[in-house]
Order: sequence, then structure tokens, then C-alpha cells
Amino acid sequence: MDKQELRRHIRQLKKTCAPESLDTQSRHILRKLAGHPAFQQARTVMLYASLPDEVRTLDFIEEWRNKKHIILPTVVGDDIIPVELTPDSPMQEGDFHILEPQSHPYEGPLDLIVVPGMAFDRQGHRLGRGKGYYDRFLIKYPEVKTIGICFDFQFLDEVPAEPHDQVIDEIISF
Ligand code: ADP
Ligand code: MG
Repeated sequence: MDKQELRRHIRQLKKTCAPESLDTQSRHILRKLAGHPAFQQARTVMLYASLPDEVRTLDFIEEWRNKKHIILPTVVGDDIIPVELTPDSPMQEGDFHILEPQSHPYEGPLDLIVVPGMAFDRQGHRLGRGKGYYDRFLIKYPEVKTIGICFDFQFLDEVPAEPHDQVIDEIISF
């Protein structure tokens, strides 16, 4: 399967999942993330604000926003710009309907980047939505630990990868 076919396939699979099951899986995945040494040791963590079809991070972000230094992606043109989630920064829908903090771009160090995806494999290959945002972003942070999170049906034996695709260190699925 090429990337386009695989994206279609994953979208179909997602439709067959009950929303409650995705909620349950999301909680389970995020509990694992919270217990992961890389998360526990991290001071500054880049999370992502989920869209309805992604591992649901919105409650998790609220839970952690006062306990760790949380950074969220904002989309500016072709780029992901990391922004600080301060205790009082309001969230507003940006491009692609993603909730983004109205706050300052963050240029400091990151200890951990949590990466969404349409599919991942054991080698850390990642399939995104097809615009390469995370490939262009992650290449700027070669030393930072990356953890991909996805539902079990998104964790595959093999995801097609091209030279520009950035490899993710670890995947947490259900
Ligand atoms: P995704 O990672 O979202 O699944 P792809 O890996 O298919 O998407 O990448 C989509 C497009 O993004 C690529 O065809 C390429 O043109 C562009 N792209 C990805 N990484 C880079 C990069 N480092 N520099 C320039 N363009 C890139
Ligand atoms: Mg890619």
C-alpha cells in the first residue's frame, strides 16, 4: 500500500470504531505516557491538541498544564511553530481547526515531543496527513526524544517511508 492508500484505509478503520472505544483507548494510552520515564523526567513537553479522530489529549493537557512546562504546536503557513501554554493562555482554533494557545512562540529546549500520526510502525516510521508538517518540524530537533501515540489499529507492521520522513523513537498504542 502506498501512503495515500494507507491514509484511506486508516480513515475507513476509524469509522468502524465506536467513539467510546476511542475515548477508552485514549485514556489508556495517555496513562502509559504519563508513566513513561521520558515523560516523568521531562520538564518541557511538547504535546498536541487533538482533533476528533486523534488520540484525545485535551483533558491530559489540562491535567498537566500547571505541573509541567507544556508546549503546543501552532500552524503558520507550512510550518509548525511551538507555542507556550501558560497557565492563563486562552486556546483558539487555528488552521485545520486545531486548538492553539494564544501565547508566545517558544524557542527554548524541549525534553520530549509527543507526536500524533495516522499510522506508525515498529521501526518508528510515521504516516501523517500528507503535508509533511512534523517531518519539517522534527528535523530541527534531532536530539529530542520523540514518542508517537496512536490507537491500536494505527500501529502497523510496516508504514511506507521516504528519505525525508523523520523516525520516531518510540510508539505508545493501546
Ligand atoms: P506526512 O509526513 O504528513 O505523512 P509526507 O511524508 O508524505 O507527509 O510528506 C509530504 C510532503 O512534505 C513531501 O512530499 C515533501 O514535499 C514535504 N516535505 C516533508 N519533509 C520535508 C522537508 N524536510 N523539506 C521540504 N519538504 C518536505
Ligand atoms: Mg512524512
